[in-house]
Amino acid sequence: MPTISINLKEGTIEKPQEVIAGIDLGTTNSLVAFMKDGQPVCVQDSAGKSTLVPSVVHFSGIGDVTVGDAAKEMLETDPANTIYSVKRLMGKSFRDVAGMKGYFGYQIIDDDTESLVKIRVKDRFYTPLELSALILKELKRRVESELNMEVSRAVITVPAYFNDNQRQATRDAGKLAGLDVLRIVNEPTAAALAYGIGNASQADKTDVETVAVYDLGGGTFDISILRIEDGIFEVLSTNGDTFLGGDDLDHVLIEHILGQLHLDGSALHADKAFGQQIRLFAENAKKILSERDLFEGTLKEKPVVVTRADFERLIRPLIQRTLDCCQNAMRDAGFTVDDIEKVIMVGGSTRVPAVKQAVAAFFRRPVFDSLNPDEVVALGAAVQADILAGNQQDLLLLDITPLSLGIETVGGLMDVIIPRNSKIPTRAGRQYTTSVDGQKNLKVSIFQGERDLVEHNRKLGEFILRGIPPMPAGLPKIDIRFVLNADGILLVQAKELRSNLEQQIEIRPTYGISEEEMGMMLLDSIQNAQTDMTVRGLLEARNEANNIMLGGEKFLKQNGDILSEEEQATTNALLKRLREAAEGQDKDIIHAAIEDLNTYTTPLAHRALDKTVREAMQGKKVL
Ligand code: ADP
Ligand code: MG
Repeated sequence: MPTISINLKEGTIEKPQEVIAGIDLGTTNSLVAFMKDGQPVCVQDSAGKSTLVPSVVHFSGIGDVTVGDAAKEMLETDPANTIYSVKRLMGKSFRDVAGMKGYFGYQIIDDDTESLVKIRVKDRFYTPLELSALILKELKRRVESELNMEVSRAVITVPAYFNDNQRQATRDAGKLAGLDVLRIVNEPTAAALAYGIGNASQADKTDVETVAVYDLGGGTFDISILRIEDGIFEVLSTNGDTFLGGDDLDHVLIEHILGQLHLDGSALHADKAFGQQIRLFAENAKKILSERDLFEGTLKEKPVVVTRADFERLIRPLIQRTLDCCQNAMRDAGFTVDDIEKVIMVGGSTRVPAVKQAVAAFFRRPVFDSLNPDEVVALGAAVQADILAGNQQDLLLLDITPLSLGIETVGGLMDVIIPRNSKIPTRAGRQYTTSVDGQKNLKVSIFQGERDLVEHNRKLGEFILRGIPPMPAGLPKIDIRFVLNADGILLVQAKELRSNLEQQIEIRPTYGISEEEMGMMLLDSIQNAQTDMTVRGLLEARNEANNIMLGGEKFLKQNGDILSEEEQATTNALLKRLREAAEGQDKDIIHAAIEDLNTYTTPLAHRALDKTVREAMQGKKVL
């Protein structure tokens, strides 16, 4: 509970203004910030040395848990019980991270490939969510001890590429840490806020600004294109790579250093402690090379020398990958570099001079780097918290969804309901119907991704709308509505409009089922666009053929009396040909068979209709 102070002189009770914390829950480092006298500030450690809390958790032999610098120091001596890079595992299944096994110094549990990753520490198993909660608890503790009051509400940032499951996992981690998470915010959006860009009191109101936020952290890379007008933020597009960051710069340096020591990668696996030691050694070398032209050190009692030129040559392909993402983000926003007015640098890895230079050269303008790149996101989160507290009503935030959301329709096709790069919050819906007479249940499977077939996309969840009153196929009107709230979390509602049957549906995303990595999914959809189109065409033709065959058979059954034997035989033969075509792989043959059947049966259908009308005129009932 926040403390209440009583003003004895005036006899009034003063409730202190409630503080909402802004939290950057990073892969490598986490920070907590709050608004102090109208300015965001990051909370420092007790020694007043650093605002960074390394996102590392250590479990001691007697059950003590430490988080931050003290835990990071245990990486070398107690790697099996020291957990880092948890954010990379958020909302992921074992299958998602199977290829990264060698990367972690601790044990990842492989109990069931579909289920969520768990981490084994001694004889206990932890989910990434629980481990993140431990980091969040430490941040909560820090801000509370700084302010000397309870802080129970927070805004937490996530990479723009986090999917719904990962956002939900982050939110749940906050809950577990005792925080009411008011909003999940994209990191690049927070960064722009930290620079005060778009703040109506500072900016020229009539100015439209286009800003690129380049965020190269320890584990993730994000590029976002923002448009800011009248104090309104809009994310036009996002792109990035959830597996590209300072860790990768360290890795190429580790390889290089191993080469100098005449060792290969197996040395790391054979001796885990050495693996961690060289990791820290390389990271330190990298940081020194951000300041100087030469690094000299000793490892395994041998000299190690790396020049900045060596380092820059090694990381050039990695930098190029970030620039490719920038290109994609601009293409998605419909822009070229000349349209971008400001470029903001975020993340510790943007301290590397070669990164800054490459980005400035790419965008052909000097970059914004006056704020501490480690703190920018947390500072922006505090500004966002302040907006939510109602203290900055001039600002409004819009975000976008990075991947399309939709449902599975007949034939395994993806029917997109909210396209990627839609502004959020948003709601969208569409009407569906049944495909079988008297159908009582409708399964709604929700997917995320850009491919035409749901099997290539990522399943978020499913539910069954039960108890549809029996009606002929095609008659029920089922409204399916997607509501994507401001946190980027999805709610799906289904309603049968004729009967008013409604189901309040909660998707419980099973974090990390058969997940494809975000960037891979986009790349995939581009590479497979041609095949997907062919497959979609075929499936749509088959669906149409099935509907027509059903109708055709019904027609033959109901109108046997007005058709000659020859007409019945020909119709049957054409139906058979269509059935065979539908089993084949060529959509053009299917379309041709549909056309032939239609051409032949249209006059017959007219005759049947005439008969129905005649009967109606004679007072007989229709149908
Ligand atoms: P994250 O957002 O992923 O938690 P940060 O923004 O805190 O990451 O960035 C951490 C990364 O920045 C680490 O890989 C770290 O080595 C790198 N880094 C920090 N300082 C420097 C520096 N001076 N030069 C180069 N890299 C740095
Ligand atoms: Mg970061």
